[in-house]
Amino acid sequence: EEARALLADRIHDVPDYPKPGVVFKDITPLLADPTAFATLTDVLAGAVARHGATKVVGLEARGFILAAPAAVRAGVGFVPVRKAGKLPGATLAQAYELEYGSAEIEVHAEDLTPEDRVLVIDDVLATGGTAEASVQLIRRAGARVAGVAMLLELGFLDGRAKLEPALAGAPLESL
Ligand code: 5GP
Repeated sequence: EEARALLADRIHDVPDYPKPGVVFKDITPLLADPTAFATLTDVLAGAVARHGATKVVGLEARGFILAAPAAVRAGVGFVPVRKAGKLPGATLAQAYELEYGSAEIEVHAEDLTPEDRVLVIDDVLATGGTAEASVQLIRRAGARVAGVAMLLELGFLDGRAKLEPALAGAPLESL
């Protein structure tokens, strides 16, 4: 509870960003506070261990910042899921719908194996589209999904309802 209070205090609301009417959750104060960042890393590394994950997938771009130190601390590998066109090797791609238009994410196929159990980490669950696409990508790569861990969840957007069917029983945790 103390950890949650510290983390919540270091996430700042930025009104009207990136456009009028949107309140953006800014995690940079948390990253700039070494105690808060270390606390978050410990919590996420604990989730990796608790779910028996063998790999951590981080979602571009803020997910990388949270997932990489958690993977190192937990002693498992880190795999980036990137926006289309950024990875140099052989990739699998997954398209998904945005509010306006669509987007595509990719992963290096060789970074995940059928032996892997993968924990997906990102900063914010909003509509759930990005996380849902990443779960599909991991399955298509042949790996299992151990769960999804988010720093925070924007409950009013109901991303959980969108993501849960794709998770097929795997846990979705937000701090
Ligand atoms: P979704 O696909 O769930 O709608 O969008 C999630 C993605 O958008 C995440 O990768 C997350 O980083 C980003 N995102 C959406 N809203 C916010 C926000 O208020 N704060 C931050 N830090 N990221 C956000």
